[in-house]
Amino acid sequence: MPPESGVSTRADLNALPNYVPGRSVPGAIKLASNEVPGGPLPSVAAAIADAAAAINRYPDMGAWALVDRIAREVGMPADQVSVGCGSVSVCQQLVQALCGPGDEVVFAWRSFEAYPIVTQVAGAVPVTVPLDSGHRHDLDAMLEAITPKTRLVFVCNPNNPTGTAVRADELREFLDRVPANVLVALDEAYREFVTDPEVPDGLTLYLGRSNVAVLRTFSKAYGLAGLRVGYAVAPEHVTAALRKVFVPFSVNAIAQVAAIASLDAKDELLARCAEITAERTRVRDGLLAAGYEVPETQANFVWLPLGERTTEFAEHALSRKIVVRPFAGDGARVTIGTAEENDLFLEAARTFTR
Ligand SMILES: *Cc1c(COP(=O)(O)O)cnc(C)c1O
Repeated sequence: MPPESGVSTRADLNALPNYVPGRSVPGAIKLASNEVPGGPLPSVAAAIADAAAAINRYPDMGAWALVDRIAREVGMPADQVSVGCGSVSVCQQLVQALCGPGDEVVFAWRSFEAYPIVTQVAGAVPVTVPLDSGHRHDLDAMLEAITPKTRLVFVCNPNNPTGTAVRADELREFLDRVPANVLVALDEAYREFVTDPEVPDGLTLYLGRSNVAVLRTFSKAYGLAGLRVGYAVAPEHVTAALRKVFVPFSVNAIAQVAAIASLDAKDELLARCAEITAERTRVRDGLLAAGYEVPETQANFVWLPLGERTTEFAEHALSRKIVVRPFAGDGARVTIGTAEENDLFLEAARTFTR
């Protein structure tokens, strides 16, 4: 037994929920973390292998080649682009860059489970606004939740875990009404899976506004979840602040080159996304036909609002070697996989006694 430690850690961390990752169960199909099923493209794998030969050196601290490449991709100046170790880190950087103790961060709930964590770790106060009865952001209620202490609002579009998306007209009206000193972060981790033309590309809303940021990631459509890189497009002075709170070198050398290679292979990767969105329709239709409620989804997953039966559903799926992501008492999120995986999932869903 080690001696009892007299070191005290921050008491408020005891009340903080842990981030619950999707489970990996050996031999089972993982539909729990919104990853894409395809492995790296040959061109990306080659760039990774090349970079691996030089990992005795520190990465480019500012990831300048990647920042420039992203800037070119999104058509914005490089001084409005910053990167992070996954966009979850970018979320954390935003809170750290904008909020002091007691400042408020508004977001919908249920939404991305990292929001309350990164908010509280930074000593800021989460203000959650329930989704509406259609599992969608209630933008009017979010507007009402803004107080003089609010510094930041996250709008997750499409929303994780419900897949629902807000439309251009309602989002534009919302942005017009948010006070100019409050930053709205449009978290578009699933942007590449959006097929509804009414769901806006956040970059079009970013243009001409000084209190909007757009967050994107290489983890989902670009297939680099294991490498950890995401980015923000934000006003210049916000970008400068994000760079100040960036943990030095936290976007590693392999992630930097892989992200560039992935942008260079964008067409191939987006073609894969089209297969996933076609499967998404098939999976949702199958679930609806089996009698499930499934909100319309614009992401690479479906949401099953099963309430108290959520855990049971996840256990049933696991008994058939399929791992979904349950949010106990609320619902299960199921990632769209390959056609074969989706068939097995649909079969599991059909055999769940309801
Ligand atoms: C997956 C996800 C992210 C980012 O993931 P990283 O792997 O950290 O880039 C950000 N926001 C939402 C809503 C997500 O679902």
